[in-house]
Amino acid sequence: MKRRHDEEQRQTPSDKVRGVENQIKACHRLHLAFMMKQKHTALKIISIALAVLILLTATPALDFAPTLRTASFWVLSCTWGIIATAAGGVQALIFLHRGLEPKFFHGNIYFENVREKGSNNLGPFFFLGEDAEYYTPYHEAGHGMQNILMGPLCVVIVGISSELWYRNFTREHAEELASGTWDPDERRRAYDRNPIERWATAWGARVYGLELG
Ligand SMILES: [Zn+2]
Repeated sequence: MKRRHDEEQRQTPSDKVRGVENQIKACHRLHLAFMMKQKHTALKIISIALAVLILLTATPALDFAPTLRTASFWVLSCTWGIIATAAGGVQALIFLHRGLEPKFFHGNIYFENVREKGSNNLGPFFFLGEDAEYYTPYHEAGHGMQNILMGPLCVVIVGISSELWYRNFTREHAEELASGTWDPDERRRAYDRNPIERWATAWGARVYGLELG
């Protein structure tokens, strides 16, 4: 203590200015650290809120509160999952313009018979082809939940892999598909050999209550 006092006595005026500058810098650093901490806390709150909303959407036991489920699904779809939602909104507007009627499936908006073959999902919107089966809305709604879980990553992980898988599937099973007599559940099992597709079907069926054959 004594030595520090002696050192202060020996400080020149320019040393004192430098000392104050250092103190200001230290305060600035502390302030910055505080701000960073706030930011960090905000991020923490956001991630907890996202997790709660995902749970609200994806918990099968929430059947007693469908409005709450739909609300949390749309909040997530329009924030974290906005990329697919925006693209789906554009596609929905195109089909509306063509005179197709929008329908509702557990908070999702969908259109039927938009094309001869193949269905697709874009966030809270899905579009069914003429070849859709009883489980297809559940499968597409499962992709809607993958979107609220993965957000922008969903476009890459699910969007691209689904597209590639669908092309591969239609090539590999061209004969069965053309026969028109392929058992729907066998077709589903063949398509769901892809784990991301299997996950979408299982999640949609589980949350929205479908017994798969
Ligand atoms: Zn799919």
